[in-house]
Amino acid sequence: MPATNWAGNVRFGAPRRSRPGDVRSLQRLVEVAPRVRVLGTGHSFNPIADTDGVLVSLAALPKTLAIEPDRDAVEISGQWTYGDLAHELDRAGLALPNTGSLPHISVAGACSTGTHGSGLGNQSLGASVRAVTLMTATGDLISADRGSPDFHGRVLALGRLGIVVAMSLDLVPTFRLAQTVVEDVPDEEVEVGLEAILAAAYSVSVFTTWGPDRANHVWLKELADRSPTEERWGGRDADGPRHPVAGMPPGNATPQLGEPGPWHERLPHFRLAFTPSSGDELQSEYLLPMTDATAAWQAIDAIRDVVHPLLHVSELRAVAPDPMWLGLTGGAPSVAFHFTWRTGPAVAEAVVAVEEQLSPYDARPHWGKVFSIPPVRLERLYPRLPDFRRLVGELDPAATFGNDLVDGWIGLDRA
Ligand SMILES: Cc1cc2nc3c(=O)[nH]c(=O)nc-3n(C[C@H](O)[C@H](O)[C@H](O)COP(=O)(O)OP(=O)(O)OC[C@H]3O[C@@H](n4cnc5c(N)ncnc54)[C@H](O)[C@@H]3O)c2cc1C
Repeated sequence: MPATNWAGNVRFGAPRRSRPGDVRSLQRLVEVAPRVRVLGTGHSFNPIADTDGVLVSLAALPKTLAIEPDRDAVEISGQWTYGDLAHELDRAGLALPNTGSLPHISVAGACSTGTHGSGLGNQSLGASVRAVTLMTATGDLISADRGSPDFHGRVLALGRLGIVVAMSLDLVPTFRLAQTVVEDVPDEEVEVGLEAILAAAYSVSVFTTWGPDRANHVWLKELADRSPTEERWGGRDADGPRHPVAGMPPGNATPQLGEPGPWHERLPHFRLAFTPSSGDELQSEYLLPMTDATAAWQAIDAIRDVVHPLLHVSELRAVAPDPMWLGLTGGAPSVAFHFTWRTGPAVAEAVVAVEEQLSPYDARPHWGKVFSIPPVRLERLYPRLPDFRRLVGELDPAATFGNDLVDGWIGLDRA
């Protein structure tokens, strides 16, 4: 198990680590350990996964996958990554509706933090979960599906309710996409037309550096069986493959230039076999109502001198509303403002500056990234936090799955 998270900015302080090889051993572990948390693939940028007890990896548990007979769902054990799962689904002619920007992350870890991709019609990845089985601190296995009253508190749960040992995910028939990068789209086009640009394909990402060139890159992921958009918003098609971060090898990114390919080789920006993104980075991200997209763009534009020097790149995406209690959309069609920062001490100040600028739009921070919004403000942003605290009290009365960071965010340290 790694000593740090993927980015290397968090050294896990857990005094014990464990990699049980079967479910019975995991049960025995949680029954006796006062504190336990699971580490997925460790791609979060804060200590969300850490514990002062036993940090558990599910990697050595039996890895199971069962496609439902009517082929509209798959049940998987808790350690699958999107990359490995996509490979199996594609072989069966099936697909997930969406992915995040990288296939390397675990499904359970991604759904636990509100991870999302892009697309006006695409919800966060956790919205595909139709049933989840948790191991509680007593070692009991409890399952819930979409019909359960607390279901939307259980999927995006920050690892706080128990160990996700199995999940059932909605499937769709496999589909193909073609990816095209449109370069040098002027700021003024994005400022007033962000929602229209994000609506131009199945999944769209707008990359910007808030730099002096005021030019932006639009990554279109278009359904291969539909006519592609002719809109270029004042930009032009890239003449070769690109990487979202300038200066990084384009070969690490998924194929572009309009070449059709399977969903799982176009929806993520980064190929499974390579380091995603830059590697030397921290990330922050905020979701806010799409209706405020232009105002939020202007708010960040006003501090571009603060943001640009510290940035690898910024990414703007669309996320459809979902009903998760701790969901980043708050139930509204949303735009996500993401920042890939160059690692360094100045990032903390820039994060505060971004949060001040986006505060009028009730921007919600990504739970797996760097943010500094205080718990008192989170309480206002997430009106279902009292329900979540009640659920924690019911399922984990001894606070086995707590840690200071998460309990601070959700107000359990004040309860
Ligand atoms: C290069 C890069 C690109 C990224 N791109 C995106 C993106 O496109 N969109 C986006 O929204 N986010 C993105 N992220 C953020 C990332 O998706 C989240 O941090 C996600 O949580 C990572 O999953 P993980 O398996 O690494 O989780 P971890 O960081 O290991 O854990 C996250 C949380 O999930 C809990 N957890 C994990 N597994 C279980 C389990 N089985 N049972 C109970 N709790 C569990 C942990 O305890 C912890 O609280 C990116 C991160 C990186 C490094």
